[in-house]
Amino acid sequence: MAKETVIETDILVLGGGVAGCTAAIKSKEQGLNVTLVDKAYVGKSGTTAAAGMRFSFFSEEHGDNYEQVYKMFTESGVSDRNWVEICIKESWDAFKTLHSWGVPFPVENEEEGIFVPKGIDSPFNAARIIRRGVPPPLREKALEVGVNIMDRITVTDLLMNNGRVVGAVGFPMEELETLVFKAKATILCTGSWSLRTVGAETHNMTGDGHAMAYRVGAELTGGDMHGSHHGNAAYPSWRGGRAARAIYRRFIDAEGNVIPYGFETGFEVDLAFHDGKGPIYHDLDAATDEEIERVWQRQQNSDGMESARINFDPRNRGKHKITGGQDCVVGAGLWPADLYCATTVTGLYAAGDTLSIRGAGFGGIPTGFIMGNRASKGAADYIANLKDYMIDDAEIARATKSMLEPYENKSGFDPRWITQLLLNTMTPYYVLMIQRGDRLQAALTMVEFFRDHFAPQLYATDPHELRLAHEVKNMILGSELALRSCLFREESRGGHYREDFPETDNPGWLAWTKIKQENGKMKLWKQPVPNEWLPEQYRK
Ligand SMILES: Cc1cc2nc3c(=O)[nH]c(=O)nc-3n(C[C@H](O)[C@H](O)[C@H](O)COP(=O)(O)OP(=O)(O)OC[C@H]3O[C@@H](n4cnc5c(N)ncnc54)[C@H](O)[C@@H]3O)c2cc1C
Repeated sequence: MAKETVIETDILVLGGGVAGCTAAIKSKEQGLNVTLVDKAYVGKSGTTAAAGMRFSFFSEEHGDNYEQVYKMFTESGVSDRNWVEICIKESWDAFKTLHSWGVPFPVENEEEGIFVPKGIDSPFNAARIIRRGVPPPLREKALEVGVNIMDRITVTDLLMNNGRVVGAVGFPMEELETLVFKAKATILCTGSWSLRTVGAETHNMTGDGHAMAYRVGAELTGGDMHGSHHGNAAYPSWRGGRAARAIYRRFIDAEGNVIPYGFETGFEVDLAFHDGKGPIYHDLDAATDEEIERVWQRQQNSDGMESARINFDPRNRGKHKITGGQDCVVGAGLWPADLYCATTVTGLYAAGDTLSIRGAGFGGIPTGFIMGNRASKGAADYIANLKDYMIDDAEIARATKSMLEPYENKSGFDPRWITQLLLNTMTPYYVLMIQRGDRLQAALTMVEFFRDHFAPQLYATDPHELRLAHEVKNMILGSELALRSCLFREESRGGHYREDFPETDNPGWLAWTKIKQENGKMKLWKQPVPNEWLPEQYRK
């Protein structure tokens, strides 16, 4: 029987990236007792550490026009207009606050100063950020205001009482013990739901928070929208090259034809692979001297160390073979119940990549800050009106038993092996990038088998393996959710492309896919975009 330690706190923040740190700092500044828990190390982990391109923002001072930016965000027809407005209005404050907390924004071009003009690699005004540069000042600021930071603790389940979230259970990496967190409000900031894909820098993001919330009945959305990024084929696990590919986006097929490619992610490259036009190259030979100089500057501030290791220097130009569709970030997030990051479960708040504001933001860092800030206000208001909160022992016993189950199993399946099987099943481009009903169904059949046969029989011999076991269980759930959501949306739109339904179906699908657990099963339904947000021709 593992030792049990109880930690009591007003606000429990799970995950210490930009959203979690902001939520913790802002909660603490309201005079609350705050505990911030991370399965890795606050100040180093999460995709906040991976972000290294830009901090986009809206500022009239810098020539932005509200109507123009609002139009850009709402064009898809399926973004949440309330959140679009919030993100536009609060992104500049996010920048100034992070700057005042010591987050570095480098100058790469003397004429431009700290800000990059629109069009270089983004449709918005932006400041440059440094890869691995954002999180350390956030940790320092959190410690300075008195947040209780607990690193290397994997949280596995939320604790419930009378339909309310009242804390969570977890265990440390060093020596197995049960940690019971009793909290008046919990803010989930555990990042995105990815599948531990090579080189994607989301290897730590196994959707733990999404899965915990799903298990207590929260509603989720966006399992049908995915991002496709491309890696370097010679060095698929090289965590560099993004600077070059993000700033300079010329991709050519094996015959030298240019593949038209939009801003950020898109399916054009995956489609070229699918059509048999590979290998596909990132073509630095065609770049101008000025473009090469920008790429080089960015690389110095972004992934210089990794690039030097493999001898990649953009000034040498060349045509570089790329991989297709390896990223596999499941676009799902919790459904916000209000504009202060409440979820559909009482006492549970979420921010950053864990909450879905349906494409409304400028990008993860500004949006993570904005949501973390709002979640701290929502949670503080909730606590102010909370009469009592209790956890009964049976609930702690249930969550602890489930947490330790793989450790109690003396035989079964190694989580590493199941992770590999899941990667093989889910990450080829033809599953979530270029989708088709029969292939989605084939993958789902295998994932259901993993869920029913492997997940209950995972075994772990130490805390590290115990963490891997929980992570793969959550990734299986994320895979099921993504596949079901993709099957459900019978059209193509944004980050969702169905070969068997290639057209955008506006009358039928100006809607979000929502998911929740009901009677032990995954229930999906369509939530139409509010009538007043629809393009005029589709309004009722
Ligand atoms: C390669 C890459 C480049 C990017 N570049 C940019 C960019 O240039 N500009 C931009 O604006 N955005 C960028 N983004 C997006 C942005 O980085 C993210 O959207 C943002 O950092 C997410 O912040 P977060 O706080 O929600 O989560 P994260 O920073 O991912 O933090 C989540 C934390 O939760 C912890 N955690 C997870 N599960 C548990 C658990 N069970 N128990 C305890 N702790 C847990 C993790 O260890 C992690 O520290 C990029 C993303 C990637 C992957």
